[in-house]
Amino acid sequence: MSSDKKDQNEKICSQLLASKSNRRDFIKTMSIAAAAGSAALTAGCIPSANAASSEEMKLRWQEFFKENYRMMTQEEKDETVARLERLAKLRNNLDLQMSSLPPIEGVLYGYAFNITRCEGFMECVSACVKENNLDRKTDTQYIRIFEMEPGKLDPSTGDGQYYHEVPVENKFYMGTQCFHCENAPCTKACPTKATWMEPDGIVVVDYDWCIGCRYCQAACPYYGRRFNWGQAEIPKEEITLKQHYLGNRLRPKGKMEKCTFCIQRTRKGRLPACVEACPTGARVFGNLLDPDSEIRFVLKNKKVFRMKEEIGTDPKFWYFID
Ligand code: SF4
Ligand code: SF4
Repeated sequence: MSSDKKDQNEKICSQLLASKSNRRDFIKTMSIAAAAGSAALTAGCIPSANAASSEEMKLRWQEFFKENYRMMTQEEKDETVARLERLAKLRNNLDLQMSSLPPIEGVLYGYAFNITRCEGFMECVSACVKENNLDRKTDTQYIRIFEMEPGKLDPSTGDGQYYHEVPVENKFYMGTQCFHCENAPCTKACPTKATWMEPDGIVVVDYDWCIGCRYCQAACPYYGRRFNWGQAEIPKEEITLKQHYLGNRLRPKGKMEKCTFCIQRTRKGRLPACVEACPTGARVFGNLLDPDSEIRFVLKNKKVFRMKEEIGTDPKFWYFID
């Protein structure tokens, strides 16, 4: 091989293996390599390296070529989760406990929000940010709390950016987040099948299959989705280490994110972080298929309504009053 060709291959390899590469960069680089007839596409792509970095490279290649989560066997899911744990250790010395826990049989999750109880403290917002490893630099939040005028029920008429003491007399508060619609337009809009509804009703994103086109965001009538423009910046000691592959794991940049009903907690029988953090008990979460659950009690006994009911998205998120 000529030295020019060798240099070119090494450049391509280092691009492929550079720490910030992603699927899109990879495809672009591979196209350049193919056009150049590069041998880097075959065997010559492993530069000399110490043991740790060659292990990392191998794991990254395996990660890159993995399937869409929905197509993986449970064994493949376990392998990918173990790989991500190991990569986090190698790269950042993080001891993650990641899971690929499947849905619990006989469970369909639903959520209800008591607008007569919420006092606008936003403890839920902070708990969600912490639990779900959201970017601190851009102040990304999955939950929004709106301060509303009496008689209005459309959050777009409320103030979603108040910075004063709460509660304010003669106002009420309404929270929004992804509503995990049964008939979700966001999942239908995705060209890569990177987002779907799980059997327990949670609408999820496979961050590694998302190409960041944001069609799903445009399709959501509730402003439920957030696009990340960069990898989350979080102080190391604040990273939530208990993670789920489809939930709060550290997302690559340029991906779509949103509330997952705290899948990493709820599939273990725990409450979402926002429900646990709410000081007024305004948030109710549970199994819609269990006639004895609190959520079923609310739906049966309280005055409930859903947002934009008329458009047929069938959200599994209700508002109610005492
Ligand atoms: Fe999709 Fe938006 Fe419904 Fe969530 S609220 S499931 S993002 S359409
Ligand atoms: Fe699908 Fe990602 Fe595009 Fe959304 S941004 S439609 S999840 S590929």
